[in-house]
Amino acid sequence: MSDTTAPGPQADTQKTVRRKPVSSSPDDLKTFAVLKRTATDYLLPNWRLVAASLIGSVVVAGTTGILPWLIQQVFDEVLDRKDITKLILIAVGTIGVSAFKGAAAYTTNITKNAIGQRIISAIQSRMFTRIMRADLAWISRTHSGRFISSFMNDAGRVRDTVTMSIIDFTQNSLTVVALMGSMFFMNWKLALLGCSVIPFGMIYMRKLGKKTRKASRQGLEGTGDLSAHISEALGGIRVVKAYNQEDREITRVSDKVQEVLRHSMRGFRAKAKASPLTESLSGVGIAGVIYFGGMAVIDAHLTKGELMAFISAMMLAYQPLKSVANTQTIMQEGVAAAARVFPILDVEPEIVSRPDAKPIDLKHGAIRFEDVNFAYADGTHALKGISIEVPRGHTVALVGPSGGGKSTTLNMVPRFYDPSSGRVVIDGQDIRDVTLSSLRQSISLVTQEPFLFDDTVRANIAYGRPDASDAEIEEAARNAAAHDFITALPRGYETRVGEAGMKLSGGQRQRIAIARAMLKNAPILLLDEATSALDTASELQVQTALSALMKGRTTLVIAHRLSTIKHANNIYVIDDGRVLESGDHASLVAQGGLYAELSRSQFERDVSDEDNAAPEAATAVKAAVARA
Ligand code: ADP
Repeated sequence: MSDTTAPGPQADTQKTVRRKPVSSSPDDLKTFAVLKRTATDYLLPNWRLVAASLIGSVVVAGTTGILPWLIQQVFDEVLDRKDITKLILIAVGTIGVSAFKGAAAYTTNITKNAIGQRIISAIQSRMFTRIMRADLAWISRTHSGRFISSFMNDAGRVRDTVTMSIIDFTQNSLTVVALMGSMFFMNWKLALLGCSVIPFGMIYMRKLGKKTRKASRQGLEGTGDLSAHISEALGGIRVVKAYNQEDREITRVSDKVQEVLRHSMRGFRAKAKASPLTESLSGVGIAGVIYFGGMAVIDAHLTKGELMAFISAMMLAYQPLKSVANTQTIMQEGVAAAARVFPILDVEPEIVSRPDAKPIDLKHGAIRFEDVNFAYADGTHALKGISIEVPRGHTVALVGPSGGGKSTTLNMVPRFYDPSSGRVVIDGQDIRDVTLSSLRQSISLVTQEPFLFDDTVRANIAYGRPDASDAEIEEAARNAAAHDFITALPRGYETRVGEAGMKLSGGQRQRIAIARAMLKNAPILLLDEATSALDTASELQVQTALSALMKGRTTLVIAHRLSTIKHANNIYVIDDGRVLESGDHASLVAQGGLYAELSRSQFERDVSDEDNAAPEAATAVKAAVARA
């Protein structure tokens, strides 16, 4: 995001803002680094549970290691000597050992899952916090569906890495070590023979792990795209239906589903390929032990009990060994997921309050743009030396062709973006010198498409001031010409508005958004007028509400309506990131430049609408337009 760090008049002071790297570098995401980070970030804080789980693992491993010894005792001490008392003792001992092992396995299981759940909730909450606090520029680069997929899928995979690879790995390796220990203790030559196949298995599993990681990464990316497609198709369902494009969306999504399926199958195949090899290798190992061990028994170098114990130890080691070998593949899936999660967890907002920032000292709310330049991250040079003055309590309108830079200009005031050079000043204070929260507290923003949350009308109005009293909320609604329609709703202020306010009309949604701004009662108003036409009655109500909202506030408005423009104290015509003309309506029309041209095409509807309301004004405009 070089756009906010480019040198400008404030470059020196800006250097004082501490900046961390925006996201993890790919090197950070190497397997070891990922495991280390996962362990320090997520296992360390849960060390008590981890310790309990490890103790459980040690007990499971130890008790498993005892079993072959018990078997040896049965053959060598009991059967040969016909010692019934010892036989009973061993039977009881086996029950005891198994029960102990069961209890330990239970502890490990419970603690492992508790750790897993804590990890997933920690990742999800941290991820959401990071996204909410991130810069708008960063958020708008990523489709919301991909974020959701990271919440749902990637976080789960990271958890699996920790619980399945780190914890299970510890338990299984301990068990393998205990069993191998007893094997070496019994007969080191046979043990060496039995273990000779392990390195081959390990090399092969490593190869498979890489394949799984690749398939897994592609699968996760596909799942991210899939959720992006689905949320887009649902969000735009009316357009989809109106243009008869259901089939296209269905094909798009099923293609993605197939793609994800292909990647998952590739991953599964890589994982499944592990079995034939590990089975055959362990078969070779056991066969070798049976042959050479059998020969040793025949030659009386080994007792029958020792051979039985040895084979049992190998059989017991087989399952945990297979899991240890499989850890590679599971771990690689987690690494692929972590590669998607960590960059989100690492994102640092660049637009922050400076360490020495003070709350804004607001006397008048006068805004001044001083030679503001701005380029988006993709290089679009959107503002090229914008200078605008909005004196206290005045309304200043921005007009101009679409793509000219009006929204970008408006977005500079709440610091959604920072200028590359030049500055925005409110009451003499560079807005980068005041705290971000005090700046945003002094601004109300009413957007073109008012956004309502799926909550009650009351909650939507009180969004910026959850502590507002009923009387205050009602007053704001009255001032926004919304009280009457709200009370006519089935449950009045308690009516839920539906997803994105779908249950209300466009004009009603706008008036609720205006009421929200009324209640916030900030001295500065940023207004992006809706371009979509409302019916005349709604339009009039919205206009009334807006006029009430603008009264006494310093207002910067992207104007699409003639009535707004006529009431503005000053108008700036913006095109290609520059201020082309400025002045009041009449003088601009008289200039016969871009504004005159725009007003002829853009405001004709307004002019004919206003014929009834204000004939003389409309005639004057028409005359001016005709002159131009
Ligand atoms: P207006 O509000 O006058 O229609 P904008 O301020 O939205 O114009 O856009 C100004 C220029 O910046 C346009 O060229 C537009 O394509 C570009 N632009 C707007 N938003 C972004 C963005 N998020 N990333 C890159 N370019 C953008």
